[in-house]
Amino acid sequence: MPSELFSDFNSLGLGDLSKADLYKEEVKPVRKAPVEVKEVKQLGETDLIFDKKYNCPVCGEEFKNKTVRTGKNRLLRIERDLRQVYTPVDQVKYDVVACPYCGYAALTKFFDAPTRMQIEGVRKNICLNYRTQRWGEDYYTYEDAKKRLQLALANSIAKSAKSSEKAFICLKIAWVLRGERDVLDPEAPDFETMKKENEAAEIEALDNAYEGFVQARQTEGYPMCGMDEPTTDFLIGALAFETGRYDVASKMVSTLLTSRTASSHIKDKARELKEDIIEKIKSQA
Ligand SMILES: [Zn+2]
Repeated sequence: MPSELFSDFNSLGLGDLSKADLYKEEVKPVRKAPVEVKEVKQLGETDLIFDKKYNCPVCGEEFKNKTVRTGKNRLLRIERDLRQVYTPVDQVKYDVVACPYCGYAALTKFFDAPTRMQIEGVRKNICLNYRTQRWGEDYYTYEDAKKRLQLALANSIAKSAKSSEKAFICLKIAWVLRGERDVLDPEAPDFETMKKENEAAEIEALDNAYEGFVQARQTEGYPMCGMDEPTTDFLIGALAFETGRYDVASKMVSTLLTSRTASSHIKDKARELKEDIIEKIKSQA
């Protein structure tokens, strides 16, 4: 089982779930636990955070989670794998809704609508073992965000979620790791070690996201996690590129450039990805 991706399962009380296979794949080697990361709070984060009320569809309790006032958070750029980088708040840190009473958690998009079967799965595999967590009082740190995403990942396994939902969580774990890397202190004595571990964990998360979306592409319909088919194909191409699968990345690019349904925006992105692939292959020659 991938290690970093599941490193918080034990402290969440959900160690047994880490024995389950995410996509029923072969067992992968274990990497050691992540180094604690000291982070500098971004100026203005607490100003943009507020408590939002939710009703838990699993235990029925009402609770509050922190969320971002999106109107005031500014989009800086969109990265190759569609990560949206906002300032001053890294919005992806707030993309999990987690019930503090029973441990049910999911990406905001998927929180409200578990099926009866899925609720049963969560009750049996999460609620009975869940250890209550304390999340940030004023805002969520990257540590909080990683743990909340792992809780959502544990829930996705417990409720036998679609591959696309699991893949999307893995992708968001990669994005949170990237955001965390941006705020690592370069003066810290263990900076190089932390950076390397962070990069390795990100690749592992991207790899799992790739596998999940490829599986989802063969078995699920669209929209997938809010994406249409060309966008999903582009994302698979980008993830293939980031995980070193340049042949797959090239194939996805060709599919998009000859597609009748892909928008000019996605075709432009596919052309940029094509440039990246050519550069990469040249640099390796
Ligand atoms: Zn609950």
